[in-house]
Amino acid sequence: MTVWMAVECPHYHSTDVIKHGKSGEGKQRYLCQNEDCPRRSFIRDYTYNIILYR
Ligand SMILES: [Zn+2]
Repeated sequence: MTVWMAVECPHYHSTDVIKHGKSGEGKQRYLCQNEDCPRRSFIRDYTYNIILYR
């Protein structure tokens, strides 16, 4: 069984994101792959839409 997290970019509403290390607070940082995104780097948080796929 494969389980992975699909994180949606809060700025561009795209799930085309990659992991980009950790922030200073230890949160997972992500990088949006969309070149048109105004702010491509973001941190995963509960205020953002996170979808769990199985
Ligand atoms: Zn984005």
